[in-house]
Amino acid sequence: MTISSLPLPQRKQAHEANKLAKRLRHAVGQAIADFNMIEDGDRVMVCLSGGKDSYTLLDVLLMLQAKAPVRFELVAVNLDQKHPGFPAHVLPDYLKSRGVEFHVLEQDTYSVVKRVVPEGKTMCGLCSRLRRGALYSFAEREGFTKIALGHHRDDIVETLFLNLFHHAKLGAMPPKLRSDDGRHVVIRPLAYVAEKDIEAWAAHREFPIIPCNLCGSQETLQRKQIKAMLDEWERRTPGRVENIFRALGDVRPAQLADRALFDFASLGAREGARADAHAWLAGEPAGAAAPDEG
Ligand code: SF4
Repeated sequence: MTISSLPLPQRKQAHEANKLAKRLRHAVGQAIADFNMIEDGDRVMVCLSGGKDSYTLLDVLLMLQAKAPVRFELVAVNLDQKHPGFPAHVLPDYLKSRGVEFHVLEQDTYSVVKRVVPEGKTMCGLCSRLRRGALYSFAEREGFTKIALGHHRDDIVETLFLNLFHHAKLGAMPPKLRSDDGRHVVIRPLAYVAEKDIEAWAAHREFPIIPCNLCGSQETLQRKQIKAMLDEWERRTPGRVENIFRALGDVRPAQLADRALFDFASLGAREGARADAHAWLAGEPAGAAAPDEG
């Protein structure tokens, strides 16, 4: 059946879904190109949790793979953390139906976290570290060249404000990074995608979502507050979150105050003035020079 032969309401729906699919493909394709995320011959491990973000990530990467001018492999990997009630059949059933190669790893991180983290404290920090450890080790054993995660634009902006408000640090979540141990390249192809588009796509595709509260933990209060703040801003001034995200790609070190990023000290400094300034600050009578104000 063609779209034009559908009754009007379904035709509208199909039209909207097509527009959304195009927007998602474009945003993901652009992020991949901008950050050189995927190259010819890459073996990409797509981390799949069963939530809307990782299903969308895999879905869009599969669409792009079908048309990409380069050849790369996609393998879905899920870590069964042994949360009570985890429906272990859901992801394998879905992935088989899509014809996607996959692996399910099993590691009881749930018991470890329960044992180690005091009751009432958030478990997410340790849980994520254990999960990362298990997935990264698997990636190394299997020779994956890239690890793809489902974080999206809104996650990145929330992290920016978490760091700003609670850690006095200007930093977010990069679209591409090398892991701390230097052994892995992690990519976030949904970096340009708004969460509301992911929600709409997950609903349209009817992904078999696995609830994310099986562990019994809650989102931290800090992240919840930041989400609420951003939602309110976006409601009052649509486009604000996108602007904040775009600012992350347009950083001007000379207009900030990080001396490691910009050499403010040398601005207008005369020969020898810098050494004199240090001496002056240290209370030594070195020359007569006070710090040059430029
Ligand atoms: S919500 Fe649960 S599964 Fe997710 S990171 Fe936190 S403790 Fe782990």
